[in-house]
Amino acid sequence: MALRIDGKAISQIIKDEVKEEVAELKKRGVDVCLAVIQVGDDPASSVYVGNKKKACEYTGIRSEAYNLPESVSEEELLALVDRLNNDSAVNGILVQLPLPAHISESRVIEAISPEKDADGFHIQSAGALMTGERGFLPCTPAGIIELIKRSGTSIEGKECVVVGRSNIVGKPAAMLLLRENGTVTICHSKTKNLREVTKRADILVVAVGKPKLIDASYVKEGAVVIDVGIHRNSENKLCGDVDFDSVSPIVSAITPVPGGVGPMTVAMLMKNCAEAARLGAEKTGKL
Ligand code: NAD
Repeated sequence: MALRIDGKAISQIIKDEVKEEVAELKKRGVDVCLAVIQVGDDPASSVYVGNKKKACEYTGIRSEAYNLPESVSEEELLALVDRLNNDSAVNGILVQLPLPAHISESRVIEAISPEKDADGFHIQSAGALMTGERGFLPCTPAGIIELIKRSGTSIEGKECVVVGRSNIVGKPAAMLLLRENGTVTICHSKTKNLREVTKRADILVVAVGKPKLIDASYVKEGAVVIDVGIHRNSENKLCGDVDFDSVSPIVSAITPVPGGVGPMTVAMLMKNCAEAARLGAEKTGKL
């Protein structure tokens, strides 16, 4: 029987750790603050922003919400980012994606100070991840590593296969697995014989965006499977990129959807904010 990796429980432990750190920082005169910018009122974005606000309240992080109309210009948005970059009371800045088509996401993300890059999407954070320097880690991939390690699997020396090469999940997840000394293969839409490659994996991370693409025929017996996909099926129920019912009988551990990777992203965001505040305070001699 496979271990069901409980992302809800693990994310709760991480949020409790952050809560302690935030309280400790507060005792030493350092407040932690996250600024969240949302453009327009896309319902999915509003749910994500709401979850981040709730997690801030839980961990003791002050959150500032900036709701800009869909019609806001790129210049106006960049001006707000610049103002928050220069506001010493703000430690983390997050721009909820996607942005409307008339605004360049990459220009906005690059405008965020790398020292306040709570989402870990800035090109400097990506470079730091690549070279092993200190930098903020993108939250979902960082959460994947926490799920694997905290559920008792060591990564070192393992055959790790990541399916998906997006900048926000696949690529950084692969870099993090490499940093943990895994032997890493990245698969994507042009990979030939996907099944043969995924079947080699001791640790299989799937971030494809295709409901139930991966069934038992893609998975080695005893593997650890991390399912990043989130989809709503025709009955309005959530499912992942992995066919849980098919895969779970043959693996040693697997994340469910919901309740696996999903809750980890916000927990890791809170962790990044606390770290940004601590590093900022150290830099300015407050700590
Ligand atoms: P994306 O669309 O940017 O990238 C998908 C990747 O999958 C691409 O690199 C593509 O090459 C690869 N791919 C597509 N079809 C394939 C196939 N048939 N075989 C092999 N590879 C294939 O998606 P993303 O942003 O990385 O997100 C992936 C999934 O993870 C989505 O379902 C998304 O909703 C989910 N997601 C969840 C969280 C979270 O839980 N917090 C965060 C981000 C994304």
